[in-house]
Amino acid sequence: MNKQQEFVMRTVEERDVRFIRLWFTDVLGQLKSVAIAPAELESAFEEGLGFDGSAVEGLTRVSEDDMIAKPDPATFQILPWRGGPQGTARIFCDVLTPEGSPSLGDPRYVLKRTLEKAKEKGFTFYTHPEIEFYLFEKQTDYSVPPTPIDQGSYFDHVPRSPGMDFRRATVNLLEQMGISVEYSHHESGPGQNEIDLRYADALTTADNIMTFRTVVKEISLERGISASFMPKPMTGQPGSGMHTHMSLFEGDENAFYEAGQEFNMSTTARQFAAGILYHAAEITAVCDQYVNSYKRLWGGSEAPSYICWGHNNRSALLRIPQYKPGKGNSARMEYRALDPVTNPYLAFSLLLAAGLDGIDKQMVLGDPTSDDVWELTDAERQAMGIEPLPDSLDTALKVMEKSDFVADVLGEHVFEYFLRNKRQEWDEYKLQVTPYELKKYLPRL
Ligand code: GLU
Ligand code: MG
Ligand code: MG
Repeated sequence: MNKQQEFVMRTVEERDVRFIRLWFTDVLGQLKSVAIAPAELESAFEEGLGFDGSAVEGLTRVSEDDMIAKPDPATFQILPWRGGPQGTARIFCDVLTPEGSPSLGDPRYVLKRTLEKAKEKGFTFYTHPEIEFYLFEKQTDYSVPPTPIDQGSYFDHVPRSPGMDFRRATVNLLEQMGISVEYSHHESGPGQNEIDLRYADALTTADNIMTFRTVVKEISLERGISASFMPKPMTGQPGSGMHTHMSLFEGDENAFYEAGQEFNMSTTARQFAAGILYHAAEITAVCDQYVNSYKRLWGGSEAPSYICWGHNNRSALLRIPQYKPGKGNSARMEYRALDPVTNPYLAFSLLLAAGLDGIDKQMVLGDPTSDDVWELTDAERQAMGIEPLPDSLDTALKVMEKSDFVADVLGEHVFEYFLRNKRQEWDEYKLQVTPYELKKYLPRL
């Protein structure tokens, strides 16, 4: 056993941990969990824990259904809501085949593989997500619209709103688990909140997002309210996004910053941004993976619909704040299409790979857009070379299907599973007669 594993074993004993939950993520970004007794931990570290992979979305073909979860000791944390004596801890796992090689259906491995490619070029990839979600009164009947817990708006201080206490409880729990939070505030929609995690390397951030979603659900259960990450839960109200700030470091140096260049942006930053915009359409099905995601993207309220970049332009898909002299290390770019139910491992892999492709191929970044791109006419946008993002899951899948780039980054296994699963989702949706159609057509047709 190595030092980290020994440290975990010791902590389990000293803190009287009763259950250790092994966590991993399926292709659709759902958290999976199996609890083991402390006595099993040593063998889990050495050999991993066998489980039936065929029951997990996207993990295996039926013919190779035995899989192994191998805990990553660096991710050990006690779950504060199950703390105290006889408490519960969690460890993220890598999923392996019975032969001990990484499972091609493990999203965490897809990200590790992509990070390794960045490392070969001397880069570390950092991300910082702004996670939005709604708080609703406890809901059990999902055929009616939800009721927000308050009528607050952007940055509102809503006295006695359960939202404020909710954010406080979430931030406290996250920090107890070693996840630093930068900001938290009321967002624009009634009952809508945002919590921003401090930047960290992309693997840690992806793990942190998985933990975040669990923490928010736990706290909402405890408080008898409903928390939802659904991208667009209410017609006419803002959707919930997960804008993600990205930066590349070469050692201690931020590779996006170069004093004296236009906007103090390095050639690396320009090429990275160009790569992201070039691949934006084909990665959208993964970044925005549900039918409902497109209601957010095309529903206004500062969600991006067009492929362009700008400095302080909140209608742009990629926002690159002007880099300030002396603040080189905070140089970053914000991708605004992601929503909070994306699979963060897959989405970060595609964003990083798109940026790296821009660097490899020395792609050229066009001019920033300063106009509000929603206000322009189609003809004006066309003249400026601004293309739309896919406007439905169906369109996004059609673009993804043809993408060798996405197939290569995700690997054929994840690529094919994802497309099959999402095509089914679209096919199911397109057969539905919706409440909108009933209301609009029944009285007249
Ligand atoms: N809720 C918006 C979205 O769906 C973002 C609002 C903001 O700028 O934070 O992307
Ligand atoms: Mg926000
Ligand atoms: Mg933002």
